[in-house]
Amino acid sequence: MKDKADFRTLCVHAGELNDTQYGGAISPIYPSTSYGFIDQDINQYPRYFNTPNQIGLAKKIAALEGAEAGMIFGSGMSAVSNALFSHLEAGDHVVFQDDLYGGTRNFIKQEFPKYGIEFSFTKGLTSDNFKIEIKKNTKGIFIETPSNPTLKIIDLKAISNLAKKAKLWTMIDNTFASPVNQNPINFGIDTVIHSATKYLGGHSDITAGVILGSNKCMELVFKSAKNFGGSLSDHTVWLLERSVKTLFIRVKEQNKNAQKLAEFLDAEEWVTKVYYPGLASHPDHALAKRQMHGFGGMLSFNLAIPIDCKKFLLNLKLVKPVMSLAGVESTALSPRLTSHALLTEAERINQGITSQMIRFSSGIEAFSDVKSDLLNALKMSRK
Ligand SMILES: *Cc1c(COP(=O)(O)O)cnc(C)c1O
Repeated sequence: MKDKADFRTLCVHAGELNDTQYGGAISPIYPSTSYGFIDQDINQYPRYFNTPNQIGLAKKIAALEGAEAGMIFGSGMSAVSNALFSHLEAGDHVVFQDDLYGGTRNFIKQEFPKYGIEFSFTKGLTSDNFKIEIKKNTKGIFIETPSNPTLKIIDLKAISNLAKKAKLWTMIDNTFASPVNQNPINFGIDTVIHSATKYLGGHSDITAGVILGSNKCMELVFKSAKNFGGSLSDHTVWLLERSVKTLFIRVKEQNKNAQKLAEFLDAEEWVTKVYYPGLASHPDHALAKRQMHGFGGMLSFNLAIPIDCKKFLLNLKLVKPVMSLAGVESTALSPRLTSHALLTEAERINQGITSQMIRFSSGIEAFSDVKSDLLNALKMSRK
């Protein structure tokens, strides 16, 4: 496999293992937890993230992000925590963007103080908002764009320029965009993290995470991760490899459906606001166009007051009112009741999250069926 092959070819073939024994068409699974060590350069062991399937899949996803190397973890949060802890020690400080994934925010707030690591949340998403938070002991900047659930966009180039000047590392949680829509390494971001539970898995049946970066970055991650643990079972690694083969066509379709839905909702009187970077009216539309290949499958919208948000979700028949996102099936949730329930009311208001907000994850069903389902739920949900 040439590294410069087309993205969709990389999805199918990068990192694949050859079945030299039987000549089968797909990667075999190597679930062994013990490997020979005599005359080997490295010790192979699942917790060292170096079984054949782990290495193959890490190569595949690294190729999709244009990274030198990668490691596969047991969950997105395992990837987030390992990425951060491997780069930090007591006395260090990190600047985080304000509206982060809820789990990441909780991790920082609960765990960092125990280890004497300091942090600040920005008060906005411009590079100046980040710059003002940089202190003498700041070591890095951590961002997430598009943000959850209001789909704000952060300028990747501006953040990486700021960080390079201040000699800081940069990390991004690229879960919402997926490698199909955004490749932050091209803009100078050092480390890319994915919750593979979302688009990389794509079928709502795998929990996994990924860290990607330069060889040097991944050596640092490995040094800590082999102590912390958190590797993924090779059976699930294999299943995730299968999922990634269809990543491009799934996400392309999800992008299309999200765009159609955003445009439809934007014109409806029962929706007061639509958050989607693909809409020309989105404040960061031009920036999104510059740094993303597609606008993604996620959108949020606010229902007009006469509509009961909970009733609306429960009256959906095709769209599932479930937690999580990015599956081939369309799903919807109330951020206030689920993903952002642990935030204080003040934090929610600050991020624009109201009880009338719905976060929508577009699947690959026919748009006409999704639209009918929403209109049907609407009829039964007036207060
Ligand atoms: C889901 C998610 C995570 C955490 O991933 P898990 O696999 O649930 O641990 C991190 N970041 C974002 C943006 C997510 O959506």
